[in-house]
Amino acid sequence: MFNSLSDRLTATFKNLRTKGRLSESDVNKTVRDIRLALLDADVALPVVKEFTSAVRERALGAEVSGALNPAQQVVKIVNDELVSILGGETRKLRLAKNPPTVIMLAGLQGSGKTTLAGKLGKFLKDQGQTPLLVAADLQRPNAVTQLEVVGQRAGVPVFAPERGNIAGHDAVTGAIEGTRSFGDPVAVAEAGIQEACNKLYSVVIVDTAGRLAVDENLMQQAADIRAAIQPDEVLFVIDAMIGQAAVDTAEAFLHGVDFTGVVLSKLDGDARGGAALSVASVTGRPIMFASTGEGVKDFEVFHPDRMASRILD
Ligand code: GDP
Repeated sequence: MFNSLSDRLTATFKNLRTKGRLSESDVNKTVRDIRLALLDADVALPVVKEFTSAVRERALGAEVSGALNPAQQVVKIVNDELVSILGGETRKLRLAKNPPTVIMLAGLQGSGKTTLAGKLGKFLKDQGQTPLLVAADLQRPNAVTQLEVVGQRAGVPVFAPERGNIAGHDAVTGAIEGTRSFGDPVAVAEAGIQEACNKLYSVVIVDTAGRLAVDENLMQQAADIRAAIQPDEVLFVIDAMIGQAAVDTAEAFLHGVDFTGVVLSKLDGDARGGAALSVASVTGRPIMFASTGEGVKDFEVFHPDRMASRILD
């Protein structure tokens, strides 16, 4: 991820290395190159505009003297602006004063929510928490079973509706469409939290249903779950490979469930990555974690400054 963006930016900075000082036209050319590199990497246009105008303004106003040569100065400015669009400071998970902390996962089907539930569960367990995963994705065939497998791999218990109790449950497809009994995802999420309270789990991670594209029913269901369980964090999981659709999807989920943080998944892929770079800036919500593979351990806390350095390396 980001290889091509990284190469393009590095080539742009290389051109500046021989310059003793930067003329306005040097700055303009550099900013133009940066703009093209970002657009080619799929960074959303409003983010590109904001980014390049900040770089231009700072590069023109940069002190000529000082310890850094012009190329280094521009690298520093671009680095600072990258950190800024990626959300600035690392944002830690908010833990509830009175446990259990409730974390809800939202995102499109296939974005990596269920996989993330296991990773996050393991991450929290390693920090001394006692997490419980709750299977409130009752839409997708086999989602409950998948979460149980994920939980087993992560060594984290899973609360799931009993199969016999799920109204309308189809044993073959697992699909439960539009039922409102124990097959109701809101009821399952609430029951999961009650279970955590009864058994003194310190964190509850609620997996919710996704669809392949944003749809009203899905969003209403997620909003209903949010309203019922009052989570401390709502993490929006987004596949970094999604490309230009990232911004619209993120905005739809922000509107629908008012998420508090972003998880970038599939950062191990070879997509251009710029769309993922746009999400924090467009939604004003921090990227908190990154998923970097299918395994339970392929997971990291997201640090905007480290990601910026990685891109500019
Ligand atoms: P959900 O529908 O949002 O719950 O998504 P899943 O957790 O089922 O993930 C969909 C697919 O993406 C599965 O095949 C996962 O193994 C895979 N996956 C999830 N996260 C990652 C990741 O960070 N990297 C890669 N390469 N694959 C991932």
